[in-house]
Amino acid sequence: MLSFVVLAGQLLLLIGGAVFGSLVLLLLLVKWWLERPLRQPIGRVRAGGPFKGQAPDDDTYEVCIVGAGPAGSSCAYFSVKGGVKTLLLERKTFPRDKYCGDGVCTPAINILEEMGVMKTLKENNEVKFADAGGLVSPAGLSYIGASVEKLGNAAACAVKRLHLDMRMAFAARDAGASLLEEQDVIGAEFDDSRGIWTVKTEAGASYKARLLVCADGAPSRLATKLGYCTEAPKGISSRAFISGKHNTNFDGVCFYLKGALPGYCAIFRHPNDELNFCYYLIPCGKEGMCGDVSEKDLPRLHNYAIKEDPFVSAAIGKQAKIEPMKAAALRLARQGVSKSYGPQLLIVGDAAGQCDPLTGEGIHTAMIGGKQAALTIIEMSREGDYSEESCKVYEDRWLKEFGHDFPISVMGSWLLWKCPMLIDATAAEMQRQGDKMLALWAELMTCMKPKTYFLHPSIALPLGVAVVRRYLSTLIFGEAKRQL
Ligand SMILES: Cc1cc2nc3c(=O)[nH]c(=O)nc-3n(C[C@H](O)[C@H](O)[C@H](O)COP(=O)(O)OP(=O)(O)OC[C@H]3O[C@@H](n4cnc5c(N)ncnc54)[C@H](O)[C@@H]3O)c2cc1C
Repeated sequence: MLSFVVLAGQLLLLIGGAVFGSLVLLLLLVKWWLERPLRQPIGRVRAGGPFKGQAPDDDTYEVCIVGAGPAGSSCAYFSVKGGVKTLLLERKTFPRDKYCGDGVCTPAINILEEMGVMKTLKENNEVKFADAGGLVSPAGLSYIGASVEKLGNAAACAVKRLHLDMRMAFAARDAGASLLEEQDVIGAEFDDSRGIWTVKTEAGASYKARLLVCADGAPSRLATKLGYCTEAPKGISSRAFISGKHNTNFDGVCFYLKGALPGYCAIFRHPNDELNFCYYLIPCGKEGMCGDVSEKDLPRLHNYAIKEDPFVSAAIGKQAKIEPMKAAALRLARQGVSKSYGPQLLIVGDAAGQCDPLTGEGIHTAMIGGKQAALTIIEMSREGDYSEESCKVYEDRWLKEFGHDFPISVMGSWLLWKCPMLIDATAAEMQRQGDKMLALWAELMTCMKPKTYFLHPSIALPLGVAVVRRYLSTLIFGEAKRQL
């Protein structure tokens, strides 16, 4: 009898081991398959182009960048550093506001360090590193910790766009780019015979350049006019600054509220203790919908969260001064822009839909896109070749850097919408594992690791177990009430 029990135990162990091993193998295989774009070789800029060895005329720039947001300014900074004669045109005058959550992720922090902008932001007390952060799940499970303990650095920081964009544009100018403000670009014409763009502004000015970079933000007006962008953006996000007395003692938290998934809201804290509250609606499901809600629901959702949601309203408190809601469009995951290049043309940042479709965040991707564009521009300038084939190298590069992740992020959004329990389980796992799990989550959500890493057994298996545990506890004990 005893030997039978031992035998049965050994058999069970063997079967369990085989199932576990197959699962790990399957996860690694799917991850490997999804990461194919990362292994694909990138083409090269064509050598010996028609402009090789020819300095541009005095009245002509090598590159004209339209829009001095994070994409345009990073592109201008790195281009001019590489010796390219660069013009940066901006519609507004700095300092100027841009509706945003002001959450700046690690890849952007690294680029800001490289540009010398982070030093200026720190010196002027314009940046707050998110040392304490976390998330609140749809069922009300929350974890706020310090991923910085595991990562060595904060995964994100908060900087007002009033400061960030001005400092970046001025860094590009100080590096040698010609920055012209109050230049509302209304169109651009290409002279095929000379290979020169003429860029025109509302006030009647015109500028000549060999290469045109559209970096004019989510509405992508210039790329639309030139025929490269075919749709209006489908995502939207709100913003409200909150000042005065509030109850927030964390630096950055995401709140996933039932009903608006895969959208979410977030609070980031600024160095002057002001808060930034944002509500992101992520396109998902039927045309025109963001899960179960649409753009017209945003004011209701925004105000409900601030006034009624037990977590958000408690963090804001009753005495805080809340700015009226502002909103702006999100163009996510290349929406409406199937090609981000053309002959002597690049499209960068939100204008190319380089915003992450799982988080709605795009400052870091705009900067990476801007830098990759600049690296390609420098090579094109050296070779005197701005052909479509050479410009495509830029698209290959940004897809390899972060764009390859977009289909997985889109899938992730859909899963969050259909299965909110995934976030509940993630929050539960954070409560169990502490900052280790929070740090992993932060790395994945801020583009430090590709989203395919969600399939790595070290994260997929504990999350899978957490989902089963959560499912069983809901089945047995029912849905927990959202409470503090
Ligand atoms: C409410 C909201 C909250 C967000 N929160 C976050 C967040 O917390 N973190 C994050 O990473 N991302 C966030 N995003 C996304 C982020 O704002 C964008 O991804 C980022 O700003 C993209 O940078 P960009 O340079 O491509 O475009 P933009 O920042 O939009 O810059 C475009 C620039 O072009 C200029 N311009 C436009 N038209 C013309 C013209 N005709 N002529 C000359 N200049 C022109 C504009 O004035 C502007 O300076 C948020 C977006 C919204 C709407």
